[in-house]
Amino acid sequence: MTTPLKPFYQLKCGCNSYPWGKQGKSSLSGYLCEQTPGYAPDDKAPKTPFQAKDDEAYAEMWMGTYPTLPSYVADTDEKLQAVLDRHPNELLGKAVVDKFGHTQLPFLPKILSISKALPLQIHPNKAFSAKMHNENPDAFGDPNHKPEIALALTEFEAFVGFKPLDAVAALLDLPELKHLRTSGNASRSAFTNEDLRAVVRDILNASPETCRDTYKAITSMPSGAFTGPHNGHIQKLAPRLADQYSSADPGLLVALLAMNYLVLQPGEAVYIPADGIHAYLSGDIVECMARSDNVLNTGFCPRAERDNIEQFCSLLTFTPHDKTQCMLPAKKYWRSEKGRTQAYAPPLSEFNVLATTLGKDEDEVLGKGGAGIVIATRGSGRVDVDGGDGFDLKEGHVYFVGQGVKLSIKAGGDGLTMHTAYVE
Ligand SMILES: [Zn+2]
Repeated sequence: MTTPLKPFYQLKCGCNSYPWGKQGKSSLSGYLCEQTPGYAPDDKAPKTPFQAKDDEAYAEMWMGTYPTLPSYVADTDEKLQAVLDRHPNELLGKAVVDKFGHTQLPFLPKILSISKALPLQIHPNKAFSAKMHNENPDAFGDPNHKPEIALALTEFEAFVGFKPLDAVAALLDLPELKHLRTSGNASRSAFTNEDLRAVVRDILNASPETCRDTYKAITSMPSGAFTGPHNGHIQKLAPRLADQYSSADPGLLVALLAMNYLVLQPGEAVYIPADGIHAYLSGDIVECMARSDNVLNTGFCPRAERDNIEQFCSLLTFTPHDKTQCMLPAKKYWRSEKGRTQAYAPPLSEFNVLATTLGKDEDEVLGKGGAGIVIATRGSGRVDVDGGDGFDLKEGHVYFVGQGVKLSIKAGGDGLTMHTAYVE
């Protein structure tokens, strides 16, 4: 059935299962996908309703038009992308279509539910992605970069970016860890980003025995051997990561010795630039990224699934380089009339994310902005658009809202938390 042109559409979304996801209905991504109404990503998609099974680990609900897990218009079962292709100027706006040179949504929002570490990864920059997409489109499906933000819905633990050089150099001076520096500069005072790159490369190339012996050395040191804001967590986290994967996994050593460990509270967000090293560890988050699925994984995954270590290390960026540089602070959203909406605006042009938080019966008005995807992550409410039409927004429901639409939102009796990713 052909979908008529409208200012908004309710969507059907799919949810991926990965071993690091949360089980059954305890997974927020699985739970929300069941409400939206979601579809099971099977051969009959989107006809089979999504139902969370107790023994399945639900990891990522995807919202938008990325072809491997696309969203469909709920009443017509037509792909949202087909509707955007028919009405790009009305729904996305001519400026967005001209800017990106296509009629796809330039961003991809997801809900992630994480029970153990995701692979240690980077998303390569645009130039590298374009080159590799040309040479090997099976491994690099997109010519685009994929900077991303992760916004905590619950307490959220993550390894993001590198520690300050001093903090890493201090660790490598310990007799138990000295052997990890087999190349690069040996003197601590002169430790540079290039030395750090060499250390990461050496760890990723180390034998399983070396990784296991180093893990044993770390956990056998007296408690209190590691102190300070950058290293104090090492002994506490080491056994947990070894339990999740293996004490021989090189990701464990890279994450604990070289990377920032962050614990975010709901409403806090991190920004991961292209080529930025990261591994998320636990929690439920809204993640939003530029439209791409390119990734290089080198740890917290089976050896056979690890990507090229040389490529991974040659791309690494050294920003951020401490915890505060990882954070993406929320700003007041400039189109919020009631001041109940925060904006997370990363330094790139593909998207911003909004968080609207309303108590019982509170309201908010959002002025005309770019095309977006809206999800009620908690509670329910009513959304009216210009011209009188509108929709009831229930927990988990996902809508596409076209550009240039003003939204008047009123929370129900349980309040409402609504997240919006949009482009302009
Ligand atoms: Zn990522």
